[in-house]
Amino acid sequence: MTDDPYMNLHAVAETRPADRMHRYDPHLAGLVFEYVRTRLSFTDTPLDHPSPPEPIIAALEGFIDRYGRDPREVLDAYVRHIASNVLSTDSPRFFGFIPAAPTKAALLFDTVVSIASLQGCSWLEASGALVAENQVLRWIADLAGMPATAGGTFVSGGSAGNLSALAVAREIGRKRFGVREVRIACSDEAHSSVANALRILDVEAVVIPSTDHRLTGEDVRRALDDYQGPPVVAIVATSGTTNAGIVDDLQGISEICRERNLWMHVDGAYGGAALLSDQRWRFAGLEYADSFITDPHKWWFAPFDCAALLYKDPDQAASVHTQHASYLDPLHQADHPVYWNPTDLAHHLSRRARGLPMWFSLAVHGTDAYAAAVQQVLDLAQDTASLINDLPHVELIREPGLSVVLWRRPGWGKDDYLALQNRLLEEQVAFATPTVWEGEVVGRFALLHPSTTIEMVKAVLDAAV
Ligand SMILES: *Cc1c(COP(=O)(O)O)cnc(C)c1O
Repeated sequence: MTDDPYMNLHAVAETRPADRMHRYDPHLAGLVFEYVRTRLSFTDTPLDHPSPPEPIIAALEGFIDRYGRDPREVLDAYVRHIASNVLSTDSPRFFGFIPAAPTKAALLFDTVVSIASLQGCSWLEASGALVAENQVLRWIADLAGMPATAGGTFVSGGSAGNLSALAVAREIGRKRFGVREVRIACSDEAHSSVANALRILDVEAVVIPSTDHRLTGEDVRRALDDYQGPPVVAIVATSGTTNAGIVDDLQGISEICRERNLWMHVDGAYGGAALLSDQRWRFAGLEYADSFITDPHKWWFAPFDCAALLYKDPDQAASVHTQHASYLDPLHQADHPVYWNPTDLAHHLSRRARGLPMWFSLAVHGTDAYAAAVQQVLDLAQDTASLINDLPHVELIREPGLSVVLWRRPGWGKDDYLALQNRLLEEQVAFATPTVWEGEVVGRFALLHPSTTIEMVKAVLDAAV
């Protein structure tokens, strides 16, 4: 015993935090896996409730201390005070904003991505993960009709995608037009994240009034012909507005972009998945986009947080976003003749290989299952419109744009829709938020979950008497 000169060191080692924190603990792992199994098995996921923070703050007060506590106690606190005090966007009864509907396969694989600590920023560190992510990106690029040169990466969301793409549009535009001060044009219906991105980029927006909420080539031509000021270098089109599901005239807009050498960016964060459906014809012209984003965490059934960002010519993006630092030189010296390092294509460096959950689910279920699921939701939107037309006490505002259905209860104002929203949530029947349409507060169904039924939709309309 005493002839082990390291004995004391072993004893010390056992008490080092690393030995506790970085060692596999079957008790802790068992607890968490058991919870994961339970949550994963939910079908009609309860909506739950948004709650005021005060009782949660009180319940979790002092929870983080110097000494730590039993994992069972911490997990119990999560289940009792955190998991139940959320609105579950993946409930098939969630119709507000934009819902989520991740497949079970994608959810499970998100856990695998975490456990493998995948650093998805470069080929040097993750060529396996990047080959798989690029298969998904290629599939989306092909659906969009983008050329073989197209490529991209997955970023955290549509907002990050818009910002990264518009940063490239601005720089390329500055070079093309030979001036520093440039403008980017978008429709008055563009998503709020576009205005935000332009503010961050310090580029003033030229806001073009749309025709019946849909930006057409004519709208753009007229606005640009009347416009005087620093050059407009890019147009942002939307393929599926979030408020009403309307797809801009991508064909007409692409013609002007090609004529005038303007960057064409298409924001398909919500609507892009309809490329898989019989509504595909609405996307004609998308094949000319210089950049395109669509959110797998919306209608492509992936977990948060995941947006696909695609460029027609990724070299242009890399010329803007590549980070140079001596400690990163090995990333750029690695031999990867076919693809770009994901870090070079957006305003990020470290990144989760967040495209892998979708890759796994697509490979398991096949692309036909995805197309069928998207189509099923579009069919439900049509059935919802018919139901509204059949019911005497409500009115359809317009034919659904993709899977968003707007309706009104004549005589109702904002407070009535809010009271309905609160009552239905209280009863756990639905989460249905109103929106504003042409100055009027109206009802809105954002459909996205393939498990949503027409009965769940009808429960909302029946309550609006
Ligand atoms: C949701 C959405 C965004 C923002 O995407 P996030 O993933 O929430 O950042 C941008 N544009 C459109 C059209 C959207 O629907």
